[in-house]
Amino acid sequence: MNPYPYTLDNKRYQTFNYHLKKTYDHKVAKVILDLDYTCPNRDGTKGVGGCIFCSARGSGDTSVHFKNDIVAQYLANKKVIDNKWPDSYTIPYFQSFSNTYGPLEKLRGYVESLIHRDEVVEMAIATRADCISDDTLAYLDDMASYKPIWLEIGLQTSNDKTAAFINRGHDFDTFKETFKRSEKTKIKTCIHIIDGLPYEDEGDMLKTIDDIKDIKYDALKIHCLEILKGTKLANIYNERPFKVITRDEYIDIVIRQLEHIRPDVIIERLTADPIKEDLIAPMWLLNKRTLLNDIDKRMKTLDTYQGKYYEASDL
Ligand code: SF4
Repeated sequence: MNPYPYTLDNKRYQTFNYHLKKTYDHKVAKVILDLDYTCPNRDGTKGVGGCIFCSARGSGDTSVHFKNDIVAQYLANKKVIDNKWPDSYTIPYFQSFSNTYGPLEKLRGYVESLIHRDEVVEMAIATRADCISDDTLAYLDDMASYKPIWLEIGLQTSNDKTAAFINRGHDFDTFKETFKRSEKTKIKTCIHIIDGLPYEDEGDMLKTIDDIKDIKYDALKIHCLEILKGTKLANIYNERPFKVITRDEYIDIVIRQLEHIRPDVIIERLTADPIKEDLIAPMWLLNKRTLLNDIDKRMKTLDTYQGKYYEASDL
């Protein structure tokens, strides 16, 4: 018997689908948006060139139309979703770059052009921990009175040495300070981490989970490091190849991380969808479905589940 309570399909961790089904009992789809933002880590404000793994799309993965017209872009992307799931509810997701960077008026315009649409049930905004002002938090807190608002914030790792290597542009203390401020609001938060960063071992990846244990967050996305063509990381890898995490190692580490995550945290992702033509390594990431199936199978074999060791401090 599966002892994990937050599931409808025998998963042993809480999927985003489970959360949406329980909350809305209706198909809900994220509508990905790529707006005219940049990032302080790419435009020279913070340093040079941005995070070493970041592609020209700024961690977005869609082709873009109507970059400066959010409603037109939303409707175009929603139309594609409607073909598959007519009448679905939506969560507009400001995905690429840092969407709280720049004037608050700009964000206000974007949020308010979509949030009052009937089919929009929540909104999600991706950004960095070092460009979320108190005014932005206060505004989003206000808007969260209408509908749930998510801030998706990239941490990648709590290890400041690795963060410097990947050129993240801020330290772990900055991340924690931002969460301290957001804890006082109604805004929901999703943390993004990356497993398999250069020179990190299993201990580092488990430590990241342990280090965020005392932070109040609602969801987590776990990514495996992708080495993408045209990135600084690709140059580093080509010049001095570092060890790339294997599929088996990734499955083991993800399961150990899940065991130590609060049981009610929503696990929005356990792997991303790299574009085949862009990917240098690891190529096993291209088969997402079998990877997720194998994580499920291994968890069942081990009779383990999200949060099994959450209270334990054995990391
Ligand atoms: S913070 Fe995001 S958009 Fe900015 S450089 Fe890093 S990955 Fe790219």
